[in-house]
Amino acid sequence: MTGGARGIGGAISTVLAEDGATVAVLGLPEDRERTHNLAARLNGAASKIHFYQSDVSIYDECREAVAAVLQQHGRIDFLVNNAGITRDHTVRKMTVEEWEKVLQVNLSGPFFMIKAVLDTMVERGFGRIVNVSSVVAEAGNFGQANYAAAKAGLLGLTKTVALEVAKRGITVNAVAPGFIDTDMTKAMPEAAIENAIAQTPVRALGQPEEVARLVRFLLDEKAGYITGAVYNINGGWYM
Ligand code: NAP
Repeated sequence: MTGGARGIGGAISTVLAEDGATVAVLGLPEDRERTHNLAARLNGAASKIHFYQSDVSIYDECREAVAAVLQQHGRIDFLVNNAGITRDHTVRKMTVEEWEKVLQVNLSGPFFMIKAVLDTMVERGFGRIVNVSSVVAEAGNFGQANYAAAKAGLLGLTKTVALEVAKRGITVNAVAPGFIDTDMTKAMPEAAIENAIAQTPVRALGQPEEVARLVRFLLDEKAGYITGAVYNINGGWYM
């Protein structure tokens, strides 16, 4: 599980640990303490959450973290590609660095992680992969060319890997959240948040736990007939 210490990722880690899964959180150095604090808040499930330092935009770090998880826990049943960043600017103002950084973390990261876990999943004949995309992958969003392109690319990656491993007991799906109440949305200007709520038919931001419940559903052993799918969770903002 990448970026699983806060926001949507923190909610996914919590739901999975409370359901009895052992969760390996792969994250940046700052996430070590956050992961520790998250685990400490869980009654009885604290020992289920472990931190592995890994920048998802660096393939070798993904590979090494996956090898460490396998060595310590013996197997990997699921992968959630959740880590993501924004670097918003209109295309005219966006720097090449901002474009590349977002593509590296939000698109190359999931590719690196999938590449790192796929062999072991294929060997065991079982796996569940969920990629956290975004509503803007399909809708586009002003000032987010890099982010929307990466999240749209992630849908193509999802469907292609789903095809490639469908016969191996591995499912690959994506969730596409709308505006969810996390640090990422808190970074938006207040007027933009109010506008997002006003344009969302259910008139509210989504909660990280709601996305976590959807991800949990797709990771279920019994969800084997769902693959290559994109699940919207956006309060009706885009249908
Ligand atoms: P968030 O609160 O900003 O959390 C993002 C997480 O990703 C953090 O834990 C962050 O680590 C981690 N991360 C960033 N770069 C990383 C890297 N290079 N390697 C490893 N981990 C890295 O974001 P969020 O709102 O929970 O979003 C989670 C996912 O949902 C993202 O993919 C985002 O694009 C997607 N999403 C969010 C919304 C929304 O409205 N919030 C809507 C649609 C989709 P640090 O804590 O160290 O920075």
